[in-house]
Amino acid sequence: MHILLSNDDGILAPGLAAMYRELLALGRVSVAAPESPQSAAAHGITVHGPVAVRRIHVHDAFTGYSVAGRPADCVKLAVTELLDSPPDLVVSGINDGANVSINVLYSGTVAAAAEGALLGFPAVAVSLRQGVERDFPQAARIALPLIRTLLDRGLSSGQLVNINIPDLTAGPPRGVRIAPQATRMIEDKFVRHCAPDGRDYYWLTPGDFSHSPGGEQTDLDALNERFVAVTPLHFDLTRYAGLDDLRKWDWSLGED
Ligand code: MN
Repeated sequence: MHILLSNDDGILAPGLAAMYRELLALGRVSVAAPESPQSAAAHGITVHGPVAVRRIHVHDAFTGYSVAGRPADCVKLAVTELLDSPPDLVVSGINDGANVSINVLYSGTVAAAAEGALLGFPAVAVSLRQGVERDFPQAARIALPLIRTLLDRGLSSGQLVNINIPDLTAGPPRGVRIAPQATRMIEDKFVRHCAPDGRDYYWLTPGDFSHSPGGEQTDLDALNERFVAVTPLHFDLTRYAGLDDLRKWDWSLGED
């Protein structure tokens, strides 16, 4: 078993090292991760310039490719150029912070795993909700048997699963819940200040997820109730119900 490990918090992030150590139980682990933090990079890639790569030794734990690019760059470059053989699995994380609900769209962690899935490999994103304590080794120990289950049960090529571990400050998770992604928006706020040169600047300050009534238990609900959330994702953004509506409309290109 050959695993490609990436993330969006950067190659020096403790969550990556913790995941690396646990994944060794499954096989050989190759690391290709961003040189600098790339949280909220989403599925961006570098198209207007070169991507520098260095091989570095990290925390006396592993040697990996440090990539001056986005999370998706790391996986794309590793698979097509850097690795000596294709991976059997792509893992991204462990992210410092949950990637549930709308954050799935902003997440570089999910994007790195998604890139692996788009390239045709089974892929898993792992994130830990921020709390007073961030015990990444414990989070990695929680994630490992879940990843093992996905492999044993045949997570297939091109499939992506998003794992979110709740805040561990109050104790271990209460269990695992298979849950759909919530679609609640985040009530972000901008804090405005005045720069020395007289310009205003704005600093994004994360707020809470907006409230939505009832409905199916989501990934966000699972974390709120201290369950691990496991969510299969896909990247066909088509709203299929809308196809029928739009097909009924007149789409002629007009006449000269
Ligand atoms: Mn991150």
